Amino acid sequence: MTEFIPKVSKHIEAVPPSATLAITAKAKKMKASGINVVNFAGGEPDFNTPDFIIDSAIKSLHAGETKYTPVAGMPKLREVISEKFKKDNNLEYSTEQIMVNVGAKQSLFNIFQAILNPGDEIIIPSPYWVSYVSMAKLASASSVLIPTEQADNFYLHIDKLQKALTPKTKAILINSPSNPTGAVYSRKNLQEIADFAVENKLIVISDEIYEKITYPGSEFISIGSLNSDIFKQTVTVNGLSKSHAMTGWRIGYSGGPKEIIGAAIRLQSHSTSGPTTFCQAASITALSDKSDLFEKNLKIFMDRRNRIVQLLNDIEGVNCSKPGGAFYVFPDVSSFYGTKISGKTIEGSLDFCAHLLETAQVAAVPGIAFGNDKHIRLSYATSIGNIEEGISRLSKFLKG
Ligand SMILES: *Cc1c(COP(=O)(O)O)cnc(C)c1O
Repeated sequence: MTEFIPKVSKHIEAVPPSATLAITAKAKKMKASGINVVNFAGGEPDFNTPDFIIDSAIKSLHAGETKYTPVAGMPKLREVISEKFKKDNNLEYSTEQIMVNVGAKQSLFNIFQAILNPGDEIIIPSPYWVSYVSMAKLASASSVLIPTEQADNFYLHIDKLQKALTPKTKAILINSPSNPTGAVYSRKNLQEIADFAVENKLIVISDEIYEKITYPGSEFISIGSLNSDIFKQTVTVNGLSKSHAMTGWRIGYSGGPKEIIGAAIRLQSHSTSGPTTFCQAASITALSDKSDLFEKNLKIFMDRRNRIVQLLNDIEGVNCSKPGGAFYVFPDVSSFYGTKISGKTIEGSLDFCAHLLETAQVAAVPGIAFGNDKHIRLSYATSIGNIEEGISRLSKFLKG
């Protein structure tokens, strides 16, 4: 008898595992075995979830909130989200235009499934967050990547969008502040993108997960708030992971046209159902909070950003722009490619990061995972002490 080898489906075979999660896993493993790793690879705030949010979850459990909720989320939470969109973003979504999901990741996954047919194209500016391309693949659609450059602050030029447009173009995805670049789109750039989308009847998916981490000097704007035409074509995605240090709670949400949200909810009714009940209850508390949580966190992140950008630019051959948001820097290290570092010739960002982790015990994510091989991504959601230690190791590594 021949041995039975299970075969997975073709569309899953085409999807690589998340590169950021892979590097983080390796760094964590090294750490667990006693190696002193400085980890810049993670994608989450290093703060704990605030106590008042944790208390609210515990209270919810003791109050017996341990049953299923409606698939689209608790009615009260959808109301609170609707108010949040109105107050913070000038977006008027009714509660039926809102869904709560298992993280913003599931929001995005559901939306991709809800709008994309096989063969459709979705425009994605590059560098891009790793999962967008895989989500498009899982909907049997194609990603059309538009390169943007550090030299002009990752501006999304409309002539490039024009060139990418085909009869199959269904949607355009934007992510501001951006993971991995930290770039924040200006009002002018957003207005241009909105005009382009309206003119060509494209759906805009706006991933606004880093909204609350936008530094003074940059302005956060929801593209859907620019005018009533673009509002009708936009799905706005957000969540509590990054804003409230709640990555593990898995609560994200979206507002958008009721046709799209309704379809995404139907999909959710056959996959996860509504997210965890007591996490939704705690999210009501989190989103209703009026304390200065964001300001405090923003100040901490800003000091770290300033420090890491300065230290990186002090290294000869490293070129790092100052990001307007999120908690990542995306320095260009390509001047080292083709040269020997500590006995090994570096061919690209994968080599660079693998060698850096092995030789200097510093974890960073290769830019190629985000579609740009010249750069690497460092998360500065870690202490100033770790930042100084890690960049000092990087500096020594590059001289080796
Ligand atoms: C972290 C992240 C998400 C998803 O966050 P969830 O934890 O699933 O809510 C979505 N988009 C980007 C760009 C992210 O960095």
